[in-house]
Amino acid sequence: MSDRIKILGVPVDMVNYAEALERFKKFIEKDGVSLIVTPNSEIVVNAGKNPDLMSAIEQAEMVIPDGIGLVYASKILKHPLEERVTGIDFLGKSLDYLSKNGKTVFLFGSKPGIAAKAAEKMEETYPGLKVVGTRNGYFKPEEEEEILAEINNAAPDLLCVALGSPKQELFVLKYKDRLKTKAAIGVGGSLDVWSGELKRAPEFYRKHGLEWLYRFIQEPSRYKRMAALPLFMLKVLFSDKSQTK
Ligand code: UDP
Repeated sequence: MSDRIKILGVPVDMVNYAEALERFKKFIEKDGVSLIVTPNSEIVVNAGKNPDLMSAIEQAEMVIPDGIGLVYASKILKHPLEERVTGIDFLGKSLDYLSKNGKTVFLFGSKPGIAAKAAEKMEETYPGLKVVGTRNGYFKPEEEEEILAEINNAAPDLLCVALGSPKQELFVLKYKDRLKTKAAIGVGGSLDVWSGELKRAPEFYRKHGLEWLYRFIQEPSRYKRMAALPLFMLKVLFSDKSQTK
């Protein structure tokens, strides 16, 4: 078990890509559902206000640091994370592993048509990958049983849930005991990127931790959400630095 630190009370595993993937492989081999969450600074701030989200993250089997803000915060807190492990890159590595080992994935979430398009692109990128089902992420509460049955009929090794946070984490937690899958990961807008609907930030923005800026340029309506990063950094600076374990 790797080390876990707390950033503003939210647990984060001190894993790099290789370690995260090793743990993922173990999840796929063992019984029960392992929840993987990928918080960025916005999600950390939200968890402080939403006890259900906080509890979901606390119960997750793996919490990967998807967000440059978390890496900065870990340095301020004197428990530096080795690197940022983005949800979308981690997903790519997981799919690569699944494709080479005859394992399956189900894509649940995003607007109608997106998951199917993402599935096509994934199968092209990772030959041998078996996407055993797709389902859009817009549903009424009374449709949840049907969705659960759809997922369980496919019994995927990995369930990708793209409902945005906290919906995706809360969905998995609610049905954790009934889901027939080995691992479930909240992937936010990753299916939009995979489908080609949303462009991922070019290398320059990624390398300099400026993905948030690129995303803002693409979707200026998200400006309120962008305020989360500076707010988060301020909170970390003024937080009690002894509360990191
Ligand atoms: N989404 C969904 N159902 C909902 C709300 C959102 O399937 O009820 C999808 C949305 O279409 C998008 C994804 O959730 O593909 C994540 O959205 P967002 O960009 O907000 O992700 P985040 O920034 O939280 O990772």
